[in-house]
Amino acid sequence: MLPVLLLVWTLLGLGSNPLATDSPQLCPLTKDHFDYDPRGSTVSSNWAAISSCCSSPVRQSPRDLDLSAIPTQYCSRPFSIQYHHSASQQGLLYNNGHAPNIDITTAYPAFLTGVPYAPDDKYVLVGIHFHFSNGSIGGSEHSLNGSKFDGEMHLVHYKEKYGSMANAVLKEDGLAVIGAFLVKSLEQIEPPKRPLDLLLEYFISLTGFGKAGGVNVALDVRALLPDRLDFYTYAGSLTTPSCSESVRWMVLADPLAVNPSSLDILRLLPMGADDDRLISLFSNVRDLQDNPQPVETNFPCWIQDVDSNPSSN
Ligand SMILES: [Zn+2]
Repeated sequence: MLPVLLLVWTLLGLGSNPLATDSPQLCPLTKDHFDYDPRGSTVSSNWAAISSCCSSPVRQSPRDLDLSAIPTQYCSRPFSIQYHHSASQQGLLYNNGHAPNIDITTAYPAFLTGVPYAPDDKYVLVGIHFHFSNGSIGGSEHSLNGSKFDGEMHLVHYKEKYGSMANAVLKEDGLAVIGAFLVKSLEQIEPPKRPLDLLLEYFISLTGFGKAGGVNVALDVRALLPDRLDFYTYAGSLTTPSCSESVRWMVLADPLAVNPSSLDILRLLPMGADDDRLISLFSNVRDLQDNPQPVETNFPCWIQDVDSNPSSN
């Protein structure tokens, strides 16, 4: 009788821990060259040559998030993230050739608490960057029920107790990344503009390249996000080399609307100071990965509006 009960228990998922059960592969940060050129040797399908983590079968990102495939017991999980002193952040905004970036430079960076499976730990914000395409294909890294969005914003945090990104990337719970889908709004919103549009407009003022060509900006990080922080969460990886499997992903359920002109600004950013090609030429989007780790939500899966209507934020 006991084995039968154990089988039922397991089939119902009641006794299973949705955390990763296979050992993640952890790889140090790398400065080795990579790109997204499908004709090149350093395209994403060949990134394993740069870092072995990129071919790990354990928990690679990005992935599709299929709401219909999430078992009921993994929905409405009691996860609630909060930002702390996020309103007065300073950042260096620049183009590194792979993505538009904002490095947080303020002495007291914003931090997150309430990260799933580490709710009492502080995760310090280090940077924000953007993924997108030229518009002919989806520009988001993750997809939702098989559908891509126009772009995706990533807010990258490391666990404070590990001291730095370099150390945290070598821990399976070292990083927490918020992903937010971007959707081109149907009409240009004139002032007062959304905080995210105002931020993206700074990229048009870049005259140089790399950090040396960056501009200093002030930003309210929380104001960039929707009011309601419903999210999908799973154990995953960095989506660029080293692909270290150190990331707790939280992908927001509500996409963010941005002005058409904001997307155009991103799509016109060049790959390099001496390279006129645009980042959007090949998109800065990694292929979807087969990640076997369970996906959970902090919202009821059965009433969530899963179409691609952008939020009003
Ligand atoms: Zn990213």
